[in-house]
Amino acid sequence: MSDDPFYLKQIEVGSMGNFLYLVGDKKSGQCLVVDPAWEVPKALRMAGQDGMKVIGGLLTHTHYDHMNGVGELIEATGGKIYVHKNEAGFLKGLKDNVTEVDSECRLSIGEFEVVFIHTPGHTPGSQCFLIQHHLFSGDTLFVGACGRCDLPGGDPRKMYESLQVLAKLPEDVILLPGHDYGETPTSTIGHQLRTNPYYQCHHLSDFLGLRMED
Ligand SMILES: [Zn+2]
Repeated sequence: MSDDPFYLKQIEVGSMGNFLYLVGDKKSGQCLVVDPAWEVPKALRMAGQDGMKVIGGLLTHTHYDHMNGVGELIEATGGKIYVHKNEAGFLKGLKDNVTEVDSECRLSIGEFEVVFIHTPGHTPGSQCFLIQHHLFSGDTLFVGACGRCDLPGGDPRKMYESLQVLAKLPEDVILLPGHDYGETPTSTIGHQLRTNPYYQCHHLSDFLGLRMED
């Protein structure tokens, strides 16, 4: 085991190139699952093999392909699921295990802190998680693209604003997207600012024009 206590695993799951992540603190042995879906038992096994205990889950949003293992995760760990308040209604049946969050909420995982950033646009309750200089961006920002805004609850204007919020993060923040859609599985904010076509739009009207072409 290296000296760096930051624990991170990126696992590709399902048939749509979804990424599930394990993130935590090796010193405390605690970790969280980001977007528990498709292969939660496998993710729990991997965490166990690494000597890590899963204590809960973070949801970037409540589309099926990002959360279809929430029930399995709760059953196996008894942990809490953190969802943005705008989408907590989708988890009604799991009340005792659900914590509603919003921007600026904080959560500790071992010695690290999870910062919640509300990034509506793909869905009304989409959110990103900043943990130890890593951004878990769900279906908001992809490597070389951004999430679609034409599904129910989508809003391209809000997506534009959310992308501007993420653009203010330090350039060396590592980008960990919700799908394997890019030429590389991960990137950095700085690289996306220079190369992602959606970051080459400097006005909302240009962005809406580009979004329409998809
Ligand atoms: Zn989605």
